[in-house]
Amino acid sequence: MIPFSVEMAKEELLQKFSAKFGSEKGKTMEEAVAFAEAVHGEQKRESGEPYIIHPIAVAEYLLDMGMDAATVIAGVLHDTVEDGKNITPDEISKRFSPEVAHLVDGVTKLTRSGQKEYVTKKQEQNENLTKLFLAIADDVRVVIIKLADRLHNMHTLEYCTREKQIRKAKETLEVYTPLAHRFGIGVLRSELEDLSFKYLMPEEYERIRSLVSRQQEERLKLLGTAMERMRELMKEAGIDAELSGRPKHLYSTYRKMQRNNASIGEIYDLIAIRVIVNTVNDCYAALGIIHAEWKPLPGRFKDYIAMPKPNLYRSLHTTLMNKNGIPFEVQIRTHEMHETAEYGVAAHWMYKEGRTVQTEMDKRTSWLRQVVQEAKDNSEDNSEFAENVVKDYLGEYVYVLTPKGEILDLPIGSTPLDFAYRIHTNVGHHTQHARVNGNMVRLDYVLKTNDVVEIITSNTQAGPSRDWLNIVKTQSAKNRIKQWFKKANREENIQKGREMLEDAAKRQAVDIAALMKPEFYGDILKKLTLPSVDELYSAIGYGGISSGQVLHRLMEMKRKADKLEEMQERLQNAAAHTAPHSPAPQKKPKPTNGVIVAGDPGMSVHFSNCCNPLPGDRIVGYITRGRGVSIHRADCRNMARLAQEPERFVPVEWATSSTEEFSATVYIHVVDKTGSLLEISRLLTTMNVYISDMKAQTTVDGVATMLVTFVVSDTDQLNHIMSNLRKLKSVIEVRRVNGR
Ligand code: MN
Repeated sequence: MIPFSVEMAKEELLQKFSAKFGSEKGKTMEEAVAFAEAVHGEQKRESGEPYIIHPIAVAEYLLDMGMDAATVIAGVLHDTVEDGKNITPDEISKRFSPEVAHLVDGVTKLTRSGQKEYVTKKQEQNENLTKLFLAIADDVRVVIIKLADRLHNMHTLEYCTREKQIRKAKETLEVYTPLAHRFGIGVLRSELEDLSFKYLMPEEYERIRSLVSRQQEERLKLLGTAMERMRELMKEAGIDAELSGRPKHLYSTYRKMQRNNASIGEIYDLIAIRVIVNTVNDCYAALGIIHAEWKPLPGRFKDYIAMPKPNLYRSLHTTLMNKNGIPFEVQIRTHEMHETAEYGVAAHWMYKEGRTVQTEMDKRTSWLRQVVQEAKDNSEDNSEFAENVVKDYLGEYVYVLTPKGEILDLPIGSTPLDFAYRIHTNVGHHTQHARVNGNMVRLDYVLKTNDVVEIITSNTQAGPSRDWLNIVKTQSAKNRIKQWFKKANREENIQKGREMLEDAAKRQAVDIAALMKPEFYGDILKKLTLPSVDELYSAIGYGGISSGQVLHRLMEMKRKADKLEEMQERLQNAAAHTAPHSPAPQKKPKPTNGVIVAGDPGMSVHFSNCCNPLPGDRIVGYITRGRGVSIHRADCRNMARLAQEPERFVPVEWATSSTEEFSATVYIHVVDKTGSLLEISRLLTTMNVYISDMKAQTTVDGVATMLVTFVVSDTDQLNHIMSNLRKLKSVIEVRRVNGR
């Protein structure tokens, strides 16, 4: 796969790339390769080869998968920000394009987390998964680059320590191959699986490999005749068909033997004959011809054309008996179906004109985006978030049908209630009975693949029952049920939550009154996007958050505040003899309002975390699913993604008489850390600005960067503060941070 010299590898990539995208883009690619080569410099792979061989290989995989030009270019650059000392996404953006920079930045964030000790620390693992899922929801191409990166790393794993081999192989099998499967990228999935298998279970791998190769020889001989005959038949019928023998991959063979407790001789699809034709009609015609010649094994015919798998896989599968009574599998599909089977999501970029693929794909990523949002809204922290999404998304699946024949994928163990909630929240809440394959079943019935599920709702069913929390399997159903109780029993929950928190405090022997102060719980409310303390109590009461976690967070906030106060005191003492002293007003940003939604002034709004709008900023409203209107800056970097559903935008404006306060974060670059801390805090104090957070980091020779968060009422005040900060001697640069 990897040509033996860097020059040859480069040449091959550039030629293939220009042939596909034209000479103008080819030039950009040439610049990208030169840039990456300069950045990686003398850096070596563990194999001793020049590092550049890796990004080139990754780009070539992406090219072979049919990805677009920006993704392939980002493939070449994917390690430059990570490895280059002074390379920033900004620079990539200027040199290449914002699109390429966005992709590289996404990969860098995933890579950074991946370098921590992955498997041993659950918390970190979950954190990494969270990043992964956010990346998928943001731009699937980032994850495809990551998959190509992983593929090359797995191919060159022999040069790593045994410990690293095991760690990487495990991670690949747990996270990356299920992802490749979810995206329908068959080629990546099986290659990654077989490589992981080889390093995780070397002996089993060898055993299966020799078994398979012995069997395959025999099978190939037997199938040779069948294939010849099939070719003749297709020709006679005037069907233009490509036939090939498809060997089964090792890991899937191993899994199948394990699962069915089968010997190698019982694996019928060890070799399958693949028939690729031009049209869907030809598929069925070919099937008819084949079934007339060979006897099909009953119960083995699958029509994935009429009923595609959720990852968009389409094909006809049938198992036949040859003249000697040996069964063999045949797969019939069109060229386009074949591309989709091999490249899945990636094929989406190949068939831009193929509308059906595109809409299916859009549906799927928008579903994922919704799951990510829901899980985030309902989780206390990252680790819970990741677990929730992973449970619903990466596990094994059953495929069930609606009465209309639409296929839904649900995690194994799902019940009719999970199905009902997947259809719609209100269907879930009002479920009374369920029918599976025409028979009434209990609500805790465990669904099997191919079950046809029908939900009978009733308006007299007031809502879910608490037992349902123990019945449903999917996190999204669980969340929706909890949500319902949260709304239904608000008063009761508030009371209960308050008591639970007090009890937790008592057990830890801490004074809850000293902790339940706005400056401590404010942050928790903001993180969980809860509008008031009552909502926090209520969330504890209905089981959405644990009282222990809240207590822990409160204590942490208090410790931090004590520290900050101590620091500010020290700074002010130091500043006292040089400047008139006036204490900063101890105000706290209140939960948000002050925006008017056109046509519906009563609509609930919240401010997006991605761009933290201030009065004075040009803003737009965006109708979210179930959380009112979120307010973004018109120049928010997420605008392009949001604009994919333009009908969800609503005009909004700032309320003129608002007395709300907002927090803004500015990035300050200074020459002298200690002196500037004094200067900055003195300035803000004299301007009566309340500082809510201050983080400083020294880089070299006293040069430091700071993130200062303070309370302001609008952009005018912010600009005024920033221009005063810029006048300070020690300050080099001040700019507003565009969210987190
Ligand atoms: Mn890499």
